[in-house]
Amino acid sequence: MNNEIRVRFAPSPTGPLHIGGVRTALYNYLFARQKGGKMILRIEDTDQTRFVPGAEQYIIEALTWLGIEFDEGVHIGGPYGPYRQSERKPLYREYADQLLRDGHAYYAFDTPEELDARRKECETRKEVFQYDCTTRTSMRNSLTLPADEVKRLIDSGTPYVVRFMFPDDTEITVDDLIRGRVTMNSRLLDDKVLFKSDGMPTYHLANIVDDHLMKISHVIRGEEWLPSAPLHVMLYKAFGWQDTMPQFAHLPLLLKPEGNGKLSKRDGDRLGFPVFPLDWTDPKTGEQSSGYRERGYLPEAVVNMLALLGWNPGDDREMMSMNDLIQLFSIDHISKSGARFNVEKARWFNHEYLQKVSDTELARLFEPQLQAHGVGASPDYVATVCGLMKERISFPSELWDTCHYFFVAPDSYDPAAIKKRWKPGMTTHMQKVIDILQSVPFEHDAIHHALIDEYITANGYNIGQIMNSLRLAVVGTTVGPDMITLMLTIGKEETISRVRRAIDTIGEV
Ligand code: GLU
Repeated sequence: MNNEIRVRFAPSPTGPLHIGGVRTALYNYLFARQKGGKMILRIEDTDQTRFVPGAEQYIIEALTWLGIEFDEGVHIGGPYGPYRQSERKPLYREYADQLLRDGHAYYAFDTPEELDARRKECETRKEVFQYDCTTRTSMRNSLTLPADEVKRLIDSGTPYVVRFMFPDDTEITVDDLIRGRVTMNSRLLDDKVLFKSDGMPTYHLANIVDDHLMKISHVIRGEEWLPSAPLHVMLYKAFGWQDTMPQFAHLPLLLKPEGNGKLSKRDGDRLGFPVFPLDWTDPKTGEQSSGYRERGYLPEAVVNMLALLGWNPGDDREMMSMNDLIQLFSIDHISKSGARFNVEKARWFNHEYLQKVSDTELARLFEPQLQAHGVGASPDYVATVCGLMKERISFPSELWDTCHYFFVAPDSYDPAAIKKRWKPGMTTHMQKVIDILQSVPFEHDAIHHALIDEYITANGYNIGQIMNSLRLAVVGTTVGPDMITLMLTIGKEETISRVRRAIDTIGEV
């Protein structure tokens, strides 16, 4: 066991980072911070065919936005670098050679066509071909070919791969911190390729070598890697590193909002929520994917929501800051079963965190929308409106639709509301409202007293009809905050002018 806690997030730069990957990074981060350990960002880019330019930058930008920080990594360096596997290329060959020398691996010269033919042949017998202890003896590899032939093939530049040689009929045990003990027989496992004909290691070899050299103590990663764990355990043994082998924790899948299966971009597109942290345009296909950041999600909300997808603090508390999460996190409370993504919950978290955003900051976020509508207003006024209305929104993008009447007078009046509220005699009531507003001090209590108590209540008028008609005149519909607060906010002149316009436009019915 390694004494120091060192964890890594090891994405492959194959596209935008799925939020399942973000959750993996987050759990690693929480674990490292809680234990006073180190958090490392390693880029696993050994598969050149899947490399996507810009993906690495995207990953770093997304995690930085969310406040997931690293102590060592591809972007900040550190004592165990380089942290990008393509820059470590020469190193892996040495380790492949060690396994070959010690009889834990072998050269395989089978061409793609030969392998394909074997696969097809098995298919006709309704079997699945696996390169393993039962088939390796009938393939073209260094176990079946004479040594001088192997040498000749290698010297003449014949393409080959290096495969791991699983021992026959051996029980392999993986102790997983979440799933407990998982046992698998080596007969079921195929001799995975460790080193490819392009001179690059595969994920399996590079991952184990790097985890070892970077002194990783805990491997916390997605469940999709659980089937690879027996191979990884065997690799540690084959290298003689079992004493410092990291502990494994395989996280549950993130499931679609409904039905079975992993949360995918298609679910997001269909149900209107992002499955990526930031917007992304695929450099090859031009395909666009939307991100939480650009949709107006706050990083704190995304972190809180993701933390609870597969983990709980042991009680029913929901709102937790990054610091709370660092204190409360525990691998013991990670669930074994998949965590279902909940769009409503994501919105709810954003709504809650938006309430904590200062009115001034919200006003700043609102500014582009105001500009787009050609509205100029003082920052203080915009902040006041935001303060009054933020309770009603979950995203800054909803501000204009919710608050536009604070900035522009209505240009029409909801016909259904006119029908329901604007009863005969309403223009007279509205004229009276104007008179009252002009005659009393323009402040809350005075308006309330004169309008509600002395005019409406004392005369036995219908308060609902009059106040809703007043709202209709000022807003154009019957939504909005407390009517007197609304009038005080937009001001006396503006209120009176709107009421006057409604009298002229709607008229007597
Ligand atoms: N490169 C792998 C990935 O993309 C890392 C898996 C692991 O953490 O071992 O998810």
